[in-house]
Amino acid sequence: VIWLGQPEHSVITTCAYCGVGCSFKAEMKGNEVVRMVPWKDGAANEGHSCVKGRFAWGYATHPDRITKPMIREKITDPWQEVSWEVALTHAAGEFKRLQEKYGRDSIGGITSSRCTNEETYLVQKLVRAAFGNNNVDTCARVCHSPTGYGLGQTLGTSAGTQTFKSVEKADVIMVIGANPTDGHPVFASRMKKRLREGAKLIVVDPRRIDIVKSPHIEASHHLALRPGTNVAVISAMAHVIVTEGLVAEQYVAERCDTKSFNEWREFVARPENSPEAMEAATGVPAAELRAAARLYATGGNAAIYYGLGVTEHSQGSTMVMGIANLAMATGNIGREGVGVNPLRGQNNVQGSCDMGSFPHELPGYRHISDSTVRGSFEEAWGVTLNPEPGLRIPNMFDAALTGSFKGLYCEGEDIVQSDPNTQHVAAALMAMECVVVQDIFLNETAKYAHVFLPGSSFLEKDGTFTNAERRISRVRKVMPPLGGYADWEVTVKLSQALGYPMNYGSPEEIMQEIAALTPTFSGVTYKKIDEKGSLQWPCNDAAPDGTPTMHIGHFVRGKGRFIITKYVPTDEKVTRKYPLLLTTGRILSQYNVGAQTRRTPNSQWHSEDKLEIHGHDAEERGIKDGDWVGVQSRAGETVLRAVISERMQPGVVYTTFHFPESGANVITTENSDWATNCPEYKVTAVQVMPVMQP
Ligand code: SF4
Repeated sequence: VIWLGQPEHSVITTCAYCGVGCSFKAEMKGNEVVRMVPWKDGAANEGHSCVKGRFAWGYATHPDRITKPMIREKITDPWQEVSWEVALTHAAGEFKRLQEKYGRDSIGGITSSRCTNEETYLVQKLVRAAFGNNNVDTCARVCHSPTGYGLGQTLGTSAGTQTFKSVEKADVIMVIGANPTDGHPVFASRMKKRLREGAKLIVVDPRRIDIVKSPHIEASHHLALRPGTNVAVISAMAHVIVTEGLVAEQYVAERCDTKSFNEWREFVARPENSPEAMEAATGVPAAELRAAARLYATGGNAAIYYGLGVTEHSQGSTMVMGIANLAMATGNIGREGVGVNPLRGQNNVQGSCDMGSFPHELPGYRHISDSTVRGSFEEAWGVTLNPEPGLRIPNMFDAALTGSFKGLYCEGEDIVQSDPNTQHVAAALMAMECVVVQDIFLNETAKYAHVFLPGSSFLEKDGTFTNAERRISRVRKVMPPLGGYADWEVTVKLSQALGYPMNYGSPEEIMQEIAALTPTFSGVTYKKIDEKGSLQWPCNDAAPDGTPTMHIGHFVRGKGRFIITKYVPTDEKVTRKYPLLLTTGRILSQYNVGAQTRRTPNSQWHSEDKLEIHGHDAEERGIKDGDWVGVQSRAGETVLRAVISERMQPGVVYTTFHFPESGANVITTENSDWATNCPEYKVTAVQVMPVMQP
């Protein structure tokens, strides 16, 4: 129900859900939000919104909010409410005790895209300066870390190349492993508008997602590949482009590294990379692969948009580099209407990566081993930094189980529900001696925590989010933090309790420090963001108003670098015991682990996760639409309700992961990307059988 009264005042802020980063007017009566109205001047959304940003904000004042700090000795003990001072002193004391007993590297921190840029910056600073190690990671580990690696290696920077608006100049749109209608709805509307105007569409997805065929839109090619064979598809398309003379020779000669291009050209031209050779692995007819490659290479401005269906694979980074290779070979980077565009799933996952929350990188994607860069942070922070990369999230879990990792500070990330192989994550947390969770609800991870620090929602704090097009937008406080402190203040206080002084009067002061230490942010100020509405990084002396399109004239790394991307089948194979492949995704009305949207009216549209299965597979197993089914993998088993769906291809099943009781990640495995450890959520061999209602 939309409130129809007259608000007393309004505040412009940014949606806390997906990576589109829509701007909203939070309309207020006193301290109470009464309506969220999409802001017409928001560059990312131009007055549009989806059902999440528009209707799903009431979780901020939901009765489940925890507003008092709590501690307990053992995770089986009841929680005990304490003052902030007691909770923070206890947490700091435990962290110090663990480091004294088990060593400096025995603790670490995890931040998330729920945090603002300023908050994430502080978490990585806390870990590096106060903990004295680099054991810091972010939720991007489980989503777009391969984007960071793959685009960094090929183009020189770990971000999308375009603005959303750029799609208006695309002639060919290739959507790979993304479902924009559900995952990035406001951008999907822009894309659909361009498709209705006549742009051609290629979809690479195991499932017949909405955009394949919707009113006045029909994909020219839907490459319905078998899960896990992305690299085979991209190699086959590259083979066609190279062997049929479709390379943009002048562009490549002028802008790309010749040696790497020649090696790549020789590799993809080999017969084993032809569409005919890849047909059996991918399940996509060779003629379709050839036709799609020709359309991409010759159809005019060609833009690629991709999502977690690319990154969350054992070859996630390989596929990202394969996409960049294809775009460089056809001259499709460096102007409007083209590009390589990762559709970031979460509101600030781009910013979380930008702010140095990976164990090997300081803010601005600069390696911790670079002594010059490290020196600038050492001087500013007054500490000596460890030059060795720290532990990634899965390494922290492994180290916990072998006894060398004992304490964790986890801000805004529900690792138990989000990360693969839930049993493994839970066992790792139980092996730790001090788990500190900072969140707005007692989430699944909090079940294993010893200290709970009340977090703040996006309505309770100031700061910035950076969306999928590198656009930095303001988040503005509309009501006081329910727990008394905004998240950035809690991190500051924890640092002080640890004995490392952090002193900031506001998030704006934190951004000033970020700008002083990060060349791509050196021109970013709150004043400029307020004047312009938003800024796209890089924003510095060379680009004082920001950079809408990247790699114009030359790539960030200088010459674009081709990387050979050999298709290596995943270890996750179907067998007689596990004959189907499970893949996962999102639905429009819910968001990720559902902690926010499940506590809003959006649950009326989607109140449980379901298993989509093709009619043939259902019939073979005696499953009818709506039946309960057991889903079993090598990692575990869960029970879901079945939906018979013609979207699915035979042999492939699908579910969403928004509800903890559905346990999607109870069944996903520990397979991960070879370069970044991003989990292979998109390929799990399973068996599905009817069961009694649980
Ligand atoms: Fe915009 Fe995404 Fe928020 Fe929807 S969820 S309103 S598309 S930012």
